[in-house]
Amino acid sequence: MSKNNRRYIIAGNWKMHMTRADAQSLVTELVETLGRETAVRTLVCPPFTALSDVGKILENSNIALGAQNMHAEPSGAFTGEVSAAMLRDLFVTHVIIGHSERRSLFGETDRQVNNKVQAALKSSLKPIMCVGESLQEREADQTLAVIERQMSVGLAKVAKSKAEQLIIAYEPIWAIGTGRAATPAMAQEVHAAIRALLAKQFGDEKAAQIRILYGGSVKPTNAKELFEQEDIDGALVGGASLQAASFIKIAQAAYAMM
Ligand code: PEP
Repeated sequence: MSKNNRRYIIAGNWKMHMTRADAQSLVTELVETLGRETAVRTLVCPPFTALSDVGKILENSNIALGAQNMHAEPSGAFTGEVSAAMLRDLFVTHVIIGHSERRSLFGETDRQVNNKVQAALKSSLKPIMCVGESLQEREADQTLAVIERQMSVGLAKVAKSKAEQLIIAYEPIWAIGTGRAATPAMAQEVHAAIRALLAKQFGDEKAAQIRILYGGSVKPTNAKELFEQEDIDGALVGGASLQAASFIKIAQAAYAMM
């Protein structure tokens, strides 16, 4: 087990990539190498259109299935949206909420993120709530203020009894898809601040159980040094999750920590 018995999570965010055939072949490769491993929680988040096919290949494996977004309402006239119940119907167990691309490109607010987090928990989906500052905010020394706002609004009214279902992903926007990851020390500083905020809201014991992932240009070459940090409990991986070899190497860096 890792720090404080928190099992590492290595999650792949495939974004708007992968037709069904591409997704099937990628996940088949992942299952061959990672499918029987239990020491680390591995997870793939394909686009909605591939969830069903990927889910079938993941059956009886230890790789979990996640979605990249959901709507907060259980059903209704919300053209183009997908509900928690629809995800559950496809055996999805995790859902990314409030990714910076959703916030910046689709106008998602902290309040909407909060509604989605609550709806996910109500449906027994584990939300991976993303937080992170822009380059401008970092340069203006606002990183911790931004994280505090995203955390306090995003997790408002979340019951203490559900806290251990939460997963937080710290993703500095300037590090996403840029090849420029945060240094381990920079990431650790923010992860520790996030854990302190969790402790303030849910108490020390719960905060010590919640996994905080780092995201932003994680690669096989920088994974180990990130995972060595006290409050980094795994990674949310974008680009490097689109190839089996690099995702597997990142997962193996987490196994090596056990
Ligand atoms: C992401 O979009 O969640 C992400 C971390 O992307 P990348 O790994 O490509 O920086």
